[in-house]
Amino acid sequence: MNLQDKRVMVMRCERYEVNMIKTILQEGLQPWGGIEHFVKPGQRVLLKVNLLMAKKPEEVTTTHPAVVQAVTELVQAAQGQVVIGDSPGGPFTKALLQRVYRRTGMEGVANATGVELNWDFGAVERPNPEGKILKTLTLGKFIDDADVIINLPKLKTHGMTKMTGGVKNMFGAIPGLIKAEYHLNMQDINDFSNVLIDIALATAPDLTITDGIIGMEGEGPSGGKSIELNTLLISSNPFAIDVAVAELVKIKQDKIPTIKAAGERGQVALLNEIELLGTPLQELQPTEFASPDISYSAKLLERFLPNFVAQWVTRALKPKPIFDPEICIQCGDCIRSCPPQIITRMEKGVKADLDKCIRCFCCQELCPKKAVSIQRPLLGRLLFRKQK
Ligand code: SF4
Ligand code: SF4
Repeated sequence: MNLQDKRVMVMRCERYEVNMIKTILQEGLQPWGGIEHFVKPGQRVLLKVNLLMAKKPEEVTTTHPAVVQAVTELVQAAQGQVVIGDSPGGPFTKALLQRVYRRTGMEGVANATGVELNWDFGAVERPNPEGKILKTLTLGKFIDDADVIINLPKLKTHGMTKMTGGVKNMFGAIPGLIKAEYHLNMQDINDFSNVLIDIALATAPDLTITDGIIGMEGEGPSGGKSIELNTLLISSNPFAIDVAVAELVKIKQDKIPTIKAAGERGQVALLNEIELLGTPLQELQPTEFASPDISYSAKLLERFLPNFVAQWVTRALKPKPIFDPEICIQCGDCIRSCPPQIITRMEKGVKADLDKCIRCFCCQELCPKKAVSIQRPLLGRLLFRKQK
């Protein structure tokens, strides 16, 4: 990661075709001197993909296997040793990972290219004195073992952080349910954003390539709709790439909590601070892009109100998860992943104790059936109108 490097390469790419993506990436990497600038022969190169959950590539929740294969082949050509890995939502176990690798197409990439999928479930504790919030970090060993990390986020919306991206993708460096602990301990979106920044800075991905060929809009990161954006982005600076992605989907950078918090910490956070290369973003911007409302404005209001009023405000204004018993198959994924453990099985479907809900939306994020939606109370919608 080079935080002084403000360059973001933007490239049009209209199909998930390995050879086409490879050619486009080769050309896009030229300003840095090609993939060889990042990968030296014999190095262990982790492709940190987004494998949130076991969804097929066409469900646009995970990094597309064609992008992963194209990057794999580039790294192989530079004689790097590729490992594909992520810690998905839920417990970090072999059974879950097997399902995720198969369904997301990662198993196919490994078979086609002969590279390794990560099966190491170990964790390591690392001091992080530079962190704003996390002074120590528990990282997946697969992250710690890599000589080079290539960060491959999927371009998607997110109910809590509005967008996922280069910075948020590194949250998957935290193994399994420890992610839920971080959610539980950092309920304020600004604190949580700073946690994400601490993790991105500590793990320092060398190169970030965003898969925005087909992205997700609306109720991301798993329940939204696909949108053709026909875009790949490259940068050695994950903060810079997130600024460009926000511009691509026409969301103001300061409306994305991770970008706002990054700016407050001296990282690039404004369009005029980055250097855009390649295809002009205007040529790739969609006519419409549905971004989710997020609730952090309500949190600010709470700070200025007496406790009992704040509790009422919280109930009246905050979005909340709604579980549809007609769609729910009682798989239990949300129960296992809910940080405060407040979801219980009912005779039909499940129910959450909303008074204890921290609004992390992990339940919505991980529900395989889209049985969880986010309901935004009318008063909240009126007071905090969606701003782009
Ligand atoms: S709401 Fe979704 S994740 Fe939760 S039990 Fe039902 S189907 Fe599974
Ligand atoms: S019910 Fe859903 S949104 Fe609420 S704390 Fe649990 S996982 Fe998070």
